[in-house]
Amino acid sequence: MQYRTLGRTGLKVSVLSYGASPLGGVFRAVSENDGIEAVHVALNLGVNFIDVSPFYGLTKAETVLGRALKGINRGRYYLATKVGRYGHEMKDFDFSAARVTRSVDESLARLGVDYVDLIQCHDIEFGSLSQVVNETLPALKKVVASGKARFIGITGLPLKVFPTVLEQTNGQVDTILSYCHYSINDTALGEMLPWLEKKGTGVINASPLSMGLLSEAGPPAWHPAPAEVKAACTQAAVLCKARGTDIAKLAVQFAVAEQRIATTLVGTASAENITRNVQAISEPIDRELLSEVQKILAPIHNKTWASGRAENN
Ligand code: NAD
Repeated sequence: MQYRTLGRTGLKVSVLSYGASPLGGVFRAVSENDGIEAVHVALNLGVNFIDVSPFYGLTKAETVLGRALKGINRGRYYLATKVGRYGHEMKDFDFSAARVTRSVDESLARLGVDYVDLIQCHDIEFGSLSQVVNETLPALKKVVASGKARFIGITGLPLKVFPTVLEQTNGQVDTILSYCHYSINDTALGEMLPWLEKKGTGVINASPLSMGLLSEAGPPAWHPAPAEVKAACTQAAVLCKARGTDIAKLAVQFAVAEQRIATTLVGTASAENITRNVQAISEPIDRELLSEVQKILAPIHNKTWASGRAENN
């Protein structure tokens, strides 16, 4: 496993990291024992960064992760969770100081730890960015001062929310977590990387499989991508299969190759998938196949979907 520094936090994170949303049954029903085994296998393979949220499985992912981490030396992993998102509807977001402060305590109890390494405002495009800047982040600063978290991050889908908040906060935000914007079909995050690097902001890239679009099984029914994106990704997966490769392998290799991204979060509750993903990044990428896949995906490259409030897209 290789490790890279997560911006100015100085944390040396594994280039491939563990996304715990599947532990909440986000993609399919998952047995708790399989989920726990997946976490243990990930740690044994050198993965040292784990991301979760109270939103995943409406607290289930944090609870299962807490059980998986029981008895494991706290020094073996960095743990990131989130605040502000508690359900699927607009009404389920709450970035108020009181709610996010309480949320941290609830997460720590479910996870069975005294502190998290990173506390992130979850999907800020659903909230008011001025509330995030003026109320949520100052509340999280107090959480850091109390020792319950070490660093602060923000997460979201529309890339423009990141500069909007970072420019108003003067170094208070240590990391950004972007998803579905650095994978074979969408590399829009790439344009922002030089600016983020200059600022010293740690970059976490999530969903290198574009939440299942770049997999043989295909995306879950709720996947928000437009139909033409789904169709092109299916075509690319079929081509890879015909060439004897799983598109998931190519997708993971592609994302991890970008050095300015400290870590790439792949979600899975399967020990077998984690083992395959870790193996994949130790092998060189098949450039010829990648270029064929990129050709198929060219008509839909960087095609995304709206998320959150209209003004944040
Ligand atoms: P992903 O692109 O990692 O895809 C996950 C899907 O791919 C799952 O169905 C999984 O079973 C499957 N998969 C993984 N490895 C595979 C393999 N080798 N072969 C076949 N299928 C494989 O998407 P994700 O899980 O949404 O993202 C990863 C993590 O990033 C999440 O768990 C979460 O922690 C984080 N995330 C955060 C946000 C946010 O903060 N807003 C958004 C998205 C993701």
